[in-house]
Amino acid sequence: MNHDSPAEIRRTLAELGLTLKKRWGQNFLINPGVRDKILELVDPRPDETVWEIGPGLGCLTSALLGRCRLLVGFEIDHGLMRFLQSSFAGREDFALEAGDAVERWSEVRERRGVPDKVVGNLPYSAASAVISSFAENGFSPKRLVFTVQRELAARLAAAPGGKNYSSFSVLCQRAYRVREAFSIRPGSFYPAPQVTSTVVDLEPRNQPDSPPVTALFQRLVQAAFRSRRKTLWNNLQAWSSGFTEGRLAAALAAEGIDPGCRAEQLGPERLAALARRLASEDL
Ligand code: SAM
Repeated sequence: MNHDSPAEIRRTLAELGLTLKKRWGQNFLINPGVRDKILELVDPRPDETVWEIGPGLGCLTSALLGRCRLLVGFEIDHGLMRFLQSSFAGREDFALEAGDAVERWSEVRERRGVPDKVVGNLPYSAASAVISSFAENGFSPKRLVFTVQRELAARLAAAPGGKNYSSFSVLCQRAYRVREAFSIRPGSFYPAPQVTSTVVDLEPRNQPDSPPVTALFQRLVQAAFRSRRKTLWNNLQAWSSGFTEGRLAAALAAEGIDPGCRAEQLGPERLAALARRLASEDL
């Protein structure tokens, strides 16, 4: 199956009676060189299970099949689902999960287990929801390789203090080591999106914290970044956390954090240490 040109994609869609759905970010990869670079990063092995989010017309799918033990595709578009089913019919190393990956992945993980790798040219509409949901729910394959809008990659990888640094950056960086691998020009997709894309490579970090401390950290981060204009102390005071002001102040002091600073000045590790301190019995 070859869909390396706009004409081939248009022909297949016409044969299937399908139209491109903008709301699902259907920009298909037509650059075989870029596809190969993505595959190189994913580095699928014969004994591995790989999940692909949004296989679309199967550009990455057909290149991955035969190189891993099992490929599980999550596709929301029923027309494309039918196309993928018939294209890869009879293959025992391919399975499809219908519907929205954000809603489905956790149940699929329960049923099929954690995959070794995850890859996806993520639809712009769903990318941040997919990545936050993975990060906040401790999803830890060996590696996740996503193509996202350049601006989203900048938010994912942002360092403290910069304008792109947000609660999203903190929660993702706490869960994963984030690396911006390379960028992709709009012309590598059909139809060409308005934006440049970046391939990000995520590797799970060891999570030293218990589930309750991790949950507290996530609530703390959301509260700390609620209003960027406010100091950390004002944001934490407005947080209905159940902690007294005295305990909040003591935790900040014990971690050497100035209550008058802004959350965006603190790296993920310092915020995690603050959550740990707040949860600690010794405070
Ligand atoms: N992987 C293909 C490629 O590289 O050419 C298609 C990439 S296209 C940017 C995004 C794909 O994700 C489309 O096939 C779209 O239908 C699908 N999709 C969009 N939102 C989704 C969601 N929430 N869950 C699963 N698939 C989704």
